[in-house]
Amino acid sequence: MPSDPFFHPVSGFDLPRFAGVPTFMRLPYVPPEHGRFADVDIGLVGVPWDSGTTNRPGPRHGPRQLRDASTMIRAQHGDTGVRPFETVNCADLGDVGPNPADIQDSMNRITAFYDTLVGQGIRPLTAGGDHLTSLPVLRALAKDGPLGMIHFDSHTDLFHSYFGGTMYTHGTPFRRAVEEELLDPKRVIQIGIRGTMYDSEDRDFAESVGIRIVPIEEFFARGVSDVMAEAREVVGDLPTYVSYDIDFVDPTFAPGTGTPEVGGPNSFQALQVCRELYGVTIAGADMVEVSPPFDASGGTAFLGVSIMFELLCAMVAD
Ligand code: MN
Ligand code: MN
Repeated sequence: MPSDPFFHPVSGFDLPRFAGVPTFMRLPYVPPEHGRFADVDIGLVGVPWDSGTTNRPGPRHGPRQLRDASTMIRAQHGDTGVRPFETVNCADLGDVGPNPADIQDSMNRITAFYDTLVGQGIRPLTAGGDHLTSLPVLRALAKDGPLGMIHFDSHTDLFHSYFGGTMYTHGTPFRRAVEEELLDPKRVIQIGIRGTMYDSEDRDFAESVGIRIVPIEEFFARGVSDVMAEAREVVGDLPTYVSYDIDFVDPTFAPGTGTPEVGGPNSFQALQVCRELYGVTIAGADMVEVSPPFDASGGTAFLGVSIMFELLCAMVAD
C-alpha cells in the first residue's frame, strides 16, 4: 500500500489549467492495465457513443469535450465543503471503445468494461454518450438484483420501440431496464419530465409498473427540497443509480444537446438537486446527452462537468 492511498488531480497552482493532457478533473489516467487499477474506488469513464440517437447526433463527442471543460473543476465543493479526491480514490479510467456501426456489439463491449469495474469494487461515474449508454452500464451494475434509480431528464426514455419495432434507442433504455429486471420500478423516480409528446404510451407504462414521474410543473410548484425528499424516500437505503440527462436543464443554460425542451430548471437548480442526493446509496451515476456540435459556447459541457462534480461529491458524502 503506498503511503498516500489517493490519486490527486493536478492543481492549477502547479500547472495552469490550459496546459497538460486533459483527463476528467485532471485526475491520473488509470486504465485497467494500470498497476493500481484495483486501488480505484470511483472511476470516471467516458462512453463516446451515440448510436441510439434518433434525432440530432453528437454525444459521441461528449467525453472529450467534458474532459477538456473539467480542467475548470477544483478540489473542494464550494457549498458543502466535500473534498471527494481526498475521501475516496478517484481516477480517469479512460473511454470504452464502442463499435459505432453496431449497437449490440457496442452494448456488449460497454457491459464487459463495466463488469471489470464491478469485479474490482469500483463505482462508475460515466460521461456519455447518449442515454442508451445507461442500459449496458446497468446490465453490469445490477448483477445482484434490481437497482433503484433517480433520473433527471425532460423525457422518460420509457418508450417500447421506435420505427415500428427498433428496441434499442436513447428513448427506450429504461423500458428495457425494467423488462430485464435491472431496475425495480417501484424504486424509480423521474424528475423534470416535460415537452410535447408523441402519445402517452411511456407514461401509461410508468403508471402500470409503479414508476413515479414528477412533471416539471410539479417540480416548480413544490420546489427542489420537497421533491428531492420524496426522491430519497422512493429509493430508500438500497443501492440506487443516478442518471442525469443534460436536457433536464433549460436549453438557455444547456443548448448543447440533441433533444432540448424549454421550460426547465436553471443551472443553479441543476446543481441543487444533486446536493439533495447526499445520503443516498449510489451504486453509480451518469451524465449523458451532452452534444458538443450543438454547444457553440462550450457552456453545456462546463455545466455537464459541474454536475458530474456534484454527483461525485454525492457519491462520497455520508
Ligand atoms: Mn434521456
Ligand atoms: Mn432527455
